Amino acid sequence: MSYRYETHLHTCQGSACGVSTGAEHARYYKSAGYQGIFVTDHFFGGNTAVPRELPWRERIHWFCSGFEDAWNEGQKVGLDVFFGWEESFDGDDYLVYGLDKQFMLDHPEMEHWSRKDQYEAVHAAGGCVIQAHPFRMRGYIQAIHLGDRFADGVEIANAGNTPAQDVYAAHYARQHQLYTITGSDNHRSHEDSALYGVALDQPLDSIQDWVQHILTRQPHVLLCPADRWDSPTEAEPLIRTYRMDAANQRVELHGDWRTW
Ligand SMILES: [Zn+2]
Ligand SMILES: [Zn+2]
Repeated sequence: MSYRYETHLHTCQGSACGVSTGAEHARYYKSAGYQGIFVTDHFFGGNTAVPRELPWRERIHWFCSGFEDAWNEGQKVGLDVFFGWEESFDGDDYLVYGLDKQFMLDHPEMEHWSRKDQYEAVHAAGGCVIQAHPFRMRGYIQAIHLGDRFADGVEIANAGNTPAQDVYAAHYARQHQLYTITGSDNHRSHEDSALYGVALDQPLDSIQDWVQHILTRQPHVLLCPADRWDSPTEAEPLIRTYRMDAANQRVELHGDWRTW
């Protein structure tokens, strides 16, 4: 028996680019046989749906509304729904798991965290951080920033990436022995949505089970097409690539790192 989980998902209530509501996602993943989902809407450094001018408490209530919609529907249909978020820096994005709405209400300074602040504060509060789609290349991304020193792992397959971008991520993770997950980055649940995620041997009882799973680097099955990392990378040249050093300063990486 294995238990499938979506690790990376956006609702239209929390994310400006989201299309499906939390409840629509919950029903879809239930019908697809998933045990649970993590709702990871874009936080305030990213493509949030929440107006910036509102008071902090209202912003957080709004931010959490997509998760809460999914959670309520999950209670009805029998799907486990967990909370997280995705924060963005210089075009690089991080999934944060294990902290809750009360933490957010109590910590308005989190909006101004650096990658390093985020990693330290999230760990201190009992959570963990995964870098999402580290080699995503899109028009709005000026350079790749690899923040694996401020993360507990990386997402090496993302349904919104090209295969080549996931091949880069998989090679980089192998070279640096990084813990890996995969996720759909699902903004819209409909009948032909490609669903990624992880499959676990045991169901998660709580978000803390997931955090411990990651922090102790437990194995799981990566859910994505079997040939996802087979494609040649030559077709898609890398843009300028930096790895963040321990002080969160950029150090340029040159192309020969792929010869692992
Ligand atoms: Zn988005
Ligand atoms: Zn995302």
